[in-house]
Amino acid sequence: MTPEERRGALEAVAAEVRDCTRCRLHEGRTRAVPGEGSPDTEVVFVGEGPGFNEDRQGRPFVGAAGSFLTELLSTVGWRRDDVFITNVVKCRPPENRDPEPDEIAACGPFLARQLAIMDPALVVTLGRHSLGTFLPGARIGQVHGTARPPAAAAWTDGSLVFAMYHPAAALHQGSLRRTLLDDMQGVPLALLDARERRALAAGIPGSADASGGAVPSVKDPQPSDLDAAARPQLAEPGADQLTLFS
Ligand code: URA
Repeated sequence: MTPEERRGALEAVAAEVRDCTRCRLHEGRTRAVPGEGSPDTEVVFVGEGPGFNEDRQGRPFVGAAGSFLTELLSTVGWRRDDVFITNVVKCRPPENRDPEPDEIAACGPFLARQLAIMDPALVVTLGRHSLGTFLPGARIGQVHGTARPPAAAAWTDGSLVFAMYHPAAALHQGSLRRTLLDDMQGVPLALLDARERRALAAGIPGSADASGGAVPSVKDPQPSDLDAAARPQLAEPGADQLTLFS
């Protein structure tokens, strides 16, 4: 897929999300929140669901939790535009309650299609509902700050899921702020790891760390990071073949 095709395909998903009536959450929304960022990124952050501000603006993570997410990204030299940010449910649950399993399941094909289009090396889960989507049964207190392959069939071979607490958790429980800041430092390293795994899966060993060990930036990728060599040319899976949600 060319960058233009990727942008167009993501916009097509976003248009469907904005018109979606697949679950009860559409009844209370002001605006659906498909997600935003670079279509060509290697890293996708997945939160839980839009809150009050996101529902008003139609953009993810624009409230207080979003400010902290932007700060977390800046600590590793990344900007929001360097990654893609989305949620497991694209419409705001009433009173910011947790999304219900049937709502997550109804919205799942949108997330699966977004991932199939972007084919990221790394997904960073924010909060336990996002974690449970990729690693069912994993406990956030045990796996936060670590990366592992997604449990169910994923968008491509070699990709990794990195678990983090939800940024809003730090607003309620101050001690988690330090934990989130510390865990964030592991994200670029997990990206290096994911690149290596994907290169191996594609039969191209040794191509992952062309930076000589420096922490990579999605802003300034090495040519080998995003080109066809590091993006395994697997058959593009259809949305119905992506069983992210068990
Ligand atoms: N919390 C989320 O999980 N997602 C958002 O977009 C905003 C707050």
